[in-house]
Amino acid sequence: MSVASAIDRGRLTGLLEAERARFAELHPRSAAAYAQARGHLFGGVPMTWMNKAAGRFPLYLESARGARVTDLDGLEYVDFALGDTGAMAGHSPAPTMAAIRERVETRGGITAMMPTENAAWVAGELARRFGPEQWSFTLTATDANRWAIRLARHVTGRPRILVFAWCYHGSVDESFALPGPDGGAVARAGNVGAPVELERTTRVVEFNDIAALERALAHGDVAAVLMEPALTNIGIVLPEPGYLEAVRELTRAAGTLLINDETHTFSAGHGGATRAWGLEPDAVTIGKSIAGGIPAGAYGLSAELAARVEALEGADLIDTGGVGGTLAGNALSVDAMRATLEHVLTEPAFEHMTALATRFTEGVQATIDRHGLPWSIAQLGARTEYRFASPAPRTGSESAAAADEALDDYLHLFMANRGVLMTPFHNMALMCPQTSAADVDRHTELFAQAVAQLL
Ligand code: PMP
Repeated sequence: MSVASAIDRGRLTGLLEAERARFAELHPRSAAAYAQARGHLFGGVPMTWMNKAAGRFPLYLESARGARVTDLDGLEYVDFALGDTGAMAGHSPAPTMAAIRERVETRGGITAMMPTENAAWVAGELARRFGPEQWSFTLTATDANRWAIRLARHVTGRPRILVFAWCYHGSVDESFALPGPDGGAVARAGNVGAPVELERTTRVVEFNDIAALERALAHGDVAAVLMEPALTNIGIVLPEPGYLEAVRELTRAAGTLLINDETHTFSAGHGGATRAWGLEPDAVTIGKSIAGGIPAGAYGLSAELAARVEALEGADLIDTGGVGGTLAGNALSVDAMRATLEHVLTEPAFEHMTALATRFTEGVQATIDRHGLPWSIAQLGARTEYRFASPAPRTGSESAAAADEALDDYLHLFMANRGVLMTPFHNMALMCPQTSAADVDRHTELFAQAVAQLL
């Protein structure tokens, strides 16, 4: 059953407009700041995706602490968006702030073309948690993916990367692909300025489709499969039992490397989905949350892959070979990573966050069940997300087909107007160490009210 059969669209439009009007009334200062910003900010925002705002203008940030943010109009929110994972450690966690102050105010030296001792500690901790033995730093998850892809191409001598329909791995050229009618890769709508046709760089299949993966790898031209162990950027699409084991077997058999992008699936536990599910990728990439909000990313290579990379003839890993960033591994990012991993995103913290996400999931499920809605909710450790489809989608394309922008906007605004922030993109909620059961229950209550108004 499609959601359209459960929701009266005229009623939805009316409710959405009422929430938009209320949003405008509550936020005169954000609205004014946005109007003024048009002069020299391209699109009126620091980054163009900030225009993804259900209220037609973004809320401006005044301050944030733990699981709370305060906007420019002085209104406080429970923040379940948490910077789309960038603030999964909570906003400005105390141990990370202490490390930053120490670096900035006491020792000095934010970036200096010199290693610091903490880098080896962080690499050791990432190895302990995620498995791969050898780590290198970037500033973003995008860069971690780009550099892992370059290394994979160089080591295997193969041109293509395989990704999954509706994946997102940052602004990675190879990844904006969907399966075309003849099984080839075609660009996703709106892809900006692609350097070459995706057909030359990419193979793409549906998540959870073992046969399609086998066929795609059989061409023998795929350097690496770049995957999130569960898709998280088109709702959460969980792997079916046995799927990830099949991916590993097929990639090994095909001589294709397997890269797990743990940027979001880190929510699954202190070693991400890789550890939680006992996966054995050749490389892991990560970013966003690992430095408590300070820009930092990393990629880890298995001992075997690292040895292959080091043995490469003609790979300039030191100067201008395409795998470097001047600010990557800077002392500030590294100190923030150490403090965040050592004291904030710890194993007990993940237990607390996961229990809250379960509470959140159960609360939403109760409302879905009460009204018999054709919706579902999927949880990945500390992260949970509802989707307007039931049963839960098993591929990216099934999940994409369940998108409903007006419904998203209505739910986002209903929540925001009553002090709860969801991610601006789809309906994701993430828990941080400071999120409380009362915060979760507030969402549960509002979700029930928002749905009751709709029906
Ligand atoms: N990988 C995944 C799975 C992501 O979801 C994202 C961003 N949403 C990225 C990589 C890229 O992160 P960044 O934009 O911080 O480079």
